[in-house]
Amino acid sequence: MRAIVYRGPGDVGLEERPRPKVQSPTDALVRVTTTAVCGSDLHIYHGRIPNLAPGGVMGHEFVGVVEDLGDQVPGLAVGQRVVGAFSTSCGTCWYCRRALPTQCVQGKLFGFGELDGTQAEYVRVPLAATTLQPLPDALRDDEAMFVGDIFATGFYCAEQGGVRPGDTVAVLGCGPVGLFTQMSARLFGAAQVVAIDLVESRLAMAQKLGAVAVHAGQDDPVAHVRALTEGRGADVVCEAVGHESALRTAFRLVRPGGTISVVGVYVEQDVPFPLGRMFMRDITFRIGICPVRNYMERLIPLIASKRVDLAQIVTHSMPLDAGVEAYALFDAKRDNAVKILLRP
Ligand code: NAD
Ligand code: ZN
Ligand code: ZN
Repeated sequence: MRAIVYRGPGDVGLEERPRPKVQSPTDALVRVTTTAVCGSDLHIYHGRIPNLAPGGVMGHEFVGVVEDLGDQVPGLAVGQRVVGAFSTSCGTCWYCRRALPTQCVQGKLFGFGELDGTQAEYVRVPLAATTLQPLPDALRDDEAMFVGDIFATGFYCAEQGGVRPGDTVAVLGCGPVGLFTQMSARLFGAAQVVAIDLVESRLAMAQKLGAVAVHAGQDDPVAHVRALTEGRGADVVCEAVGHESALRTAFRLVRPGGTISVVGVYVEQDVPFPLGRMFMRDITFRIGICPVRNYMERLIPLIASKRVDLAQIVTHSMPLDAGVEAYALFDAKRDNAVKILLRP
């Protein structure tokens, strides 16, 4: 089968790999119909996350069809359409029972060196009964796939921020995760969403979705947010970037008594934390990898009922064979790229 593999910093390639097989009774083999390039893949692409060794298959977002099953996968059948979570979970361990599926003792991430990734024609899915979610036929791949990662993450970011009706929410980042965080802040009743980025085309998309767009390179986001909040600052600041520059801005954007919610990925970096400033201003700080499994069933009805239109952030749909070009486009934000789907 064909797959996108990591070769080294700045270098991915399309290569032939053996088609995976069901190895354990709880596995499924999924034929991938749609996958995508995520901002988290870019951390690997740039060598910022050293977890994936050269030769490893990349990617962790996927919709597909069950091709084969072990004999202990209740609730799934061959031929069924499914969406996958970006990490596996067992559903029964201490962490899973406490709604922390991304801390599952048996859990593994796709495409980060623990399991082969999903930017391939097929993917082996361990713990399939709890990792895969069956899909209604009415939901297209490009609507459904995002519940397994970036829409769930945006929703989680707003929820962790405790967004309440009437709030002013500042969102750092207008990539796919930032845009979905902005949409989710609205679902929680935010009165104003301020979207901050450095890329014109992405800011334009945020504005189209109803946010006040601020170009961090041309305008001072802190002054802008203060002007909108009688000098206080944002009630909730969401960080959907994953770079220290954005985190530093988050500390300055939040009002006294407000909350910072971070979903941008930090793996090995230690970033200075302004503890004194946070203490004196009563700031709540939340950070984490999204417990995506908790959100999949809950978010599908929001999409099916058209309360959110997720497909509107998709700017490109390319064949898997063009995966190398997809990485280059998404990384450089060329050709107004926001979300790029790959079709094996
Ligand atoms: P992306 O790279 O497309 O988007 C990041 C955006 O941030 C870009 O548009 C970039 O221009 C902007 N940016 C860079 N520096 C900035 C700054 N100082 N101020 C404001 N904006 C700035 O990535 P994405 O797919 O949207 O993902 C965003 C982040 O979320 C990544 O770090 C990704 O790894 C992370 N993520 C986390 C989870 C989780 O479970 N916590 C899940 C998915 C993705
Ligand atoms: Zn991702
Ligand atoms: Zn578990």
